[in-house]
Amino acid sequence: MAEPTMKALVLRAVGDVRLEEVPKPHPGPGEALVRVAAASICGSDIPHIYERRAMRYPVIPGHEVAGVVEAVNGAPLSYVGERVTVKPIIPCRTCRYCQVGAYGQCEASTSLGFGRDGAFAEYVCVPVQNLVRLPKEVDLAEAALTEPAAAALHAVRQGGIQPGDCVAILGAGPLGMMVAQWARIGGAGTILLVDLDERKLELARRLWLGETWNAREGDPVAWAWEQTLGLGVDLAIEAAGASVTLEQAMRMVRPLGRVVVLGEPNGDVILPRETAAQMVRKQLALYGTWHSQFTALPVDEWRVTVEMIAGRRLDVRSLISHRLPLEGGVQALEMMRERRAFYSRVVLLPHGEEGLA
Ligand SMILES: [Zn+2]
Ligand SMILES: [Zn+2]
Repeated sequence: MAEPTMKALVLRAVGDVRLEEVPKPHPGPGEALVRVAAASICGSDIPHIYERRAMRYPVIPGHEVAGVVEAVNGAPLSYVGERVTVKPIIPCRTCRYCQVGAYGQCEASTSLGFGRDGAFAEYVCVPVQNLVRLPKEVDLAEAALTEPAAAALHAVRQGGIQPGDCVAILGAGPLGMMVAQWARIGGAGTILLVDLDERKLELARRLWLGETWNAREGDPVAWAWEQTLGLGVDLAIEAAGASVTLEQAMRMVRPLGRVVVLGEPNGDVILPRETAAQMVRKQLALYGTWHSQFTALPVDEWRVTVEMIAGRRLDVRSLISHRLPLEGGVQALEMMRERRAFYSRVVLLPHGEEGLA
């Protein structure tokens, strides 16, 4: 009997991604076979596919996923038929960072779509420990955005948000807009959003995420000080990955303020002397943020995120601009790379709209 096959987007070398028919994977011990209902394309997938060498070739990219467990191997059968999303990091669970639950810092981790096959496929195998159960009411296309939404929550938590804080977000892409929503949930008083793309800012205004400013129209730092009546921003979150936005973030926060760096730098980050001096004099706290909390305590960021999406308190639906079958995947990736059209989040539906039921 012929081996069952499935459709998948396969990355064979830098920039060489194709739709192929490949063997349907078998779950290894302790793993689940997940029928992929929805897989979201992350901003980080673009450099991963087109610019950097992957950890291995061939590999199926995709680390933001929701689907239904079809089979398990040596794990509780109760998972079969469950709707799930998946934590993308597979930590070693023995290194010193794993011992304190900081799986994002694991010294020997692998992850979905990078070191092992990911979710741009009809099926994906993942360790059962990485499964996160979804409530019945949640839409699977939206649930595929749990991973970036949890990362946005983590970024806001890194900044130690306090009720009434003025929070500035530099970069109003989908991640920045999720950050804005978490800031509001976390009790932010004023939320300021800065971007260069008017279409993003328009979407932010439509979602009532906060005050917006197009940096093409003038200095966002001056605007932020004006908006805060000269008090300065309490917490600034850099979500664009640019040198200039990090600098602006540092200049708009008040003395003793906090800056969270969420955007992966897209080039060298260079600070003018005056800004570096301000960092010293204002005693700024600078935090990096990476992935999300994968443990249940102190805050189960994945569970909270899933509940907020299901309860519609976190609007990820409005951030989905494209829903496409796997067959449209390569074109979508190219469209994103060349920024040919406006997009926020592109979600692939390997089993079509019917697969979401
Ligand atoms: Zn991602
Ligand atoms: Zn580890």
